[in-house]
Amino acid sequence: PSPKKPLPFTPSGYVRVRGAREHNLKNVDVDIPRDALVVFTGVSGSGKSSLAFGTLYAEAQRRYLESVSPYARRLFHQMAVPEVDDIDGLPPAVALQQQRGTPTTRSSVGSVTTLSNLMRMLYSRAGDYPEGQPLLYAESFSPNTPEGACPECHGLGRVVEATERSMVPDDSLTIRERAVAAWPTAWHGQNLREILMTLGYDVDKPWRDLPKKDRDWILYTDEQPSVPVYSGFSADEVQDALKRKAVPSYQGTFTSARKYVLQTFATTQSPLMKKRVARYLVGSDCPLCEGRRLRRESLSVTFAGHDIASISRLPLKQLAALLKPYVEQTAKGNAKHDRAHPEQVIVRQRIAADLAARLSVLLDLGLGYLTLERSTPTLSPGELQRLRLATQVRSNLFGVVYVLDEPSAGLHPADTEALLTALARLKASGNSLFVVEHELDVIRQADWIVDVGPAAGEQGGMVLYSGPPDGLAKVEASQTRRYLFDEAPPPARTPRAPSGWLKLEGVTRNNLDRLDAAFPLGVLTSVTGVSGSGKSSLVSQALVELAAESLGHAAAPEEEEADALAPTDTAPTGGRIVAGMDKVRRMVRVDQKPIGRTPRSNLATYTGLFDHVRKLFAASPDARRRRFDAGHFSFNVAKGRCPTCEGEGQVMVELLFLPSVYTPCPACEGARYNERVLAVRYRERNIADVLRMTVDAAFDFFADDEPLRRPLGVLREVGLGYLRLGQAATELSGGEAQRIKLATELQRPQRGDTLYILDEPSTGLHPSDIDRLVAQLDALVDAGNTVIVVEHDMRIVAASDWVVDIGPGAGDEGGRVVASAPPAEVARAKGSRTAPYLAKAL
Ligand code: ADP
Ligand code: ADP
Ligand code: ZN
Ligand code: ZN
Repeated sequence: PSPKKPLPFTPSGYVRVRGAREHNLKNVDVDIPRDALVVFTGVSGSGKSSLAFGTLYAEAQRRYLESVSPYARRLFHQMAVPEVDDIDGLPPAVALQQQRGTPTTRSSVGSVTTLSNLMRMLYSRAGDYPEGQPLLYAESFSPNTPEGACPECHGLGRVVEATERSMVPDDSLTIRERAVAAWPTAWHGQNLREILMTLGYDVDKPWRDLPKKDRDWILYTDEQPSVPVYSGFSADEVQDALKRKAVPSYQGTFTSARKYVLQTFATTQSPLMKKRVARYLVGSDCPLCEGRRLRRESLSVTFAGHDIASISRLPLKQLAALLKPYVEQTAKGNAKHDRAHPEQVIVRQRIAADLAARLSVLLDLGLGYLTLERSTPTLSPGELQRLRLATQVRSNLFGVVYVLDEPSAGLHPADTEALLTALARLKASGNSLFVVEHELDVIRQADWIVDVGPAAGEQGGMVLYSGPPDGLAKVEASQTRRYLFDEAPPPARTPRAPSGWLKLEGVTRNNLDRLDAAFPLGVLTSVTGVSGSGKSSLVSQALVELAAESLGHAAAPEEEEADALAPTDTAPTGGRIVAGMDKVRRMVRVDQKPIGRTPRSNLATYTGLFDHVRKLFAASPDARRRRFDAGHFSFNVAKGRCPTCEGEGQVMVELLFLPSVYTPCPACEGARYNERVLAVRYRERNIADVLRMTVDAAFDFFADDEPLRRPLGVLREVGLGYLRLGQAATELSGGEAQRIKLATELQRPQRGDTLYILDEPSTGLHPSDIDRLVAQLDALVDAGNTVIVVEHDMRIVAASDWVVDIGPGAGDEGGRVVASAPPAEVARAKGSRTAPYLAKAL
């Protein structure tokens, strides 16, 4: 059902906020209706999240925690007490916030949605058991219980193994030349070689020429013989010394390469060591359960011919189709068995109906291409949020406020209507919805708009309008107003001509099967398609990996630390780049991941401009007199920083029975430096004053310093003039982090040979921010670079030079290039689900 324009809206009651001052909020008073769809709008950094999450949700959470025991309180995710005088009429709140970065806990689609519990119940109570096998409890169908887990792999489904190929990457080398790369380096590795000499192995023959028996023993034996070792002797001298029973240099104990790798991986405390040995491990399916994670008894129970592991690998859409006949009781089953056990027939129908109802919400939200077993860390933040939203729609809670953060993120415009339907269902069951959103199609469906602004940071933090959507038309200061009511299309533009083509052949990855694709060089390309069609598989995974390989570096050098610890899986991207890489010298991904995980990295350190600031301070007469160098002005170096907080500016206070809190450091009052360093002035300001300046203020302060003016100017151009130089990485939103990365790129000298890849850069951006972003991307292209974005926002797609539309559907129904042409042509493409939406934006 398509959502209709809401009837004139009469609120039933209000949440009254008085004196909100969280982050940049300017003592805000606002009344927000309950039992309504309320959308918070405003440019990025204006204070929407500070109001919706930082104030309303935080306060609801705080009140709830007050009512539970101190012990339980500690178990919850802690939120600070918001800066607000008073909030009245606030119901309990549930936040469905998008977590960026890698989620810490490993779970699956089935567990997040609780569908897996129902599946286990279905198999336990209504599965087909082999003759004579007793019924199993539901737990027996979970790989996470001792009753269910496969005894070989302990329910992981995978075993890690060290193989000859993984441990001996180059078999033309000899043992002396470190053929066994997996062995430790330095003295320990040398010991092992000397032990092999005592044992009579030839360490100077190429590895591949050694007999298989010898190679296997060296790599795999569990024996750990202890033998006399003669350091520095040749092979003959060693054998001679052994015969003479000469006094050895030392007694050495042998460890095979596999034993060393597995033992180190399992026991080392050093992440670096773990990372080193993980390189020599490969994952493979468990031989006993074939990757299905369960005991044999559990796997012998079937439903509709599938064991529970295989059914969890079906796309949800297929799973729903498979259940349908059981819900409608038209399934052809074992009639004789059913007559004998009428109770099982009833149980089967009930559980199947419940599963089908829950699945239908997931399908509505465009998630039918997921499988129950898909692990949540591989989902995008938007997918995860919609999964949790779907779970809530079926939860029968009422009287709560759901606070959501850009639920349209990652969603193709074709799927936005289903999202609105899900939100409408939550509202219809008596809940309030507070949604931070930029997507105009969602904003138009709101009962009420709270528009925050007028600009970002210090220039924002005020409520410009709070009322039904129509009333916003009269609010001059609102940026949102221009986009919501101004239907005039952007000026027509002529697409730029490509300077060449980057051609990929035979790409195989996730749902892509031997796909050929081509991206134009020297222009801005948007890759479009419904959620799950394969955009990220093609661009963020395959293209990135293949290009990185061809440039000769790893795909993701700095990120994915957690994953680097896991053994490599044996499913590399299939395919290759057959043309165009000769024009690409560099590849840069501009994503929304945090620029750092601790308050020690900040805007100034990340962009590198702080290095120059420190040099300026070190060159000042004050500093020269004291013989201070640039290191004194780093809060990460002992000689200059405050010893009490070690340069953090804050200290943690542990409170008995209460969440621990951070307070400004009592010694430096948050300045981060010791007094001697703070006494040094550059133009009347000390280093802590500079860190407290906004980019705008610093731009004026350092106006005559060219090396600082340029990066500061670029930061202003990307719309970050309101950020403070010392603003910690942890306090920045994903959109802000992304724009800092972009600014860092824009200030580089341009050589026109870089490939930029952006995955949904519009996330978290107001339409006015998007116009600015497009201008920045254009600047990169005008300097000769290539920019490829994965996007749903039709403003960006319309402003591109070229569009590659992937689809037509999701999962198995996608993975093909539906259209590849300039925007105007794709807007007319038959069979493209993007075409009608693009046509409207042109
Ligand atoms: P929006 O949701 O409208 O994009 P936010 O509410 O996230 O805006 O941010 C409003 C302002 O508060 C911005 O200047 C932002 O940099 C700042 N801010 C956000 N989070 C924090 C924080 N944890 N500590 C300090 N300042 C913050
Ligand atoms: P899009 O970026 O267009 O939303 P994706 O490339 O993320 O689409 O997904 C395409 C298909 O590949 C989907 O069926 C999805 O479930 C599957 N897929 C994507 N990433 C993974 C992964 N890490 N593991 C397993 N399947 C994946
Ligand atoms: Zn197993
Ligand atoms: Zn301090």
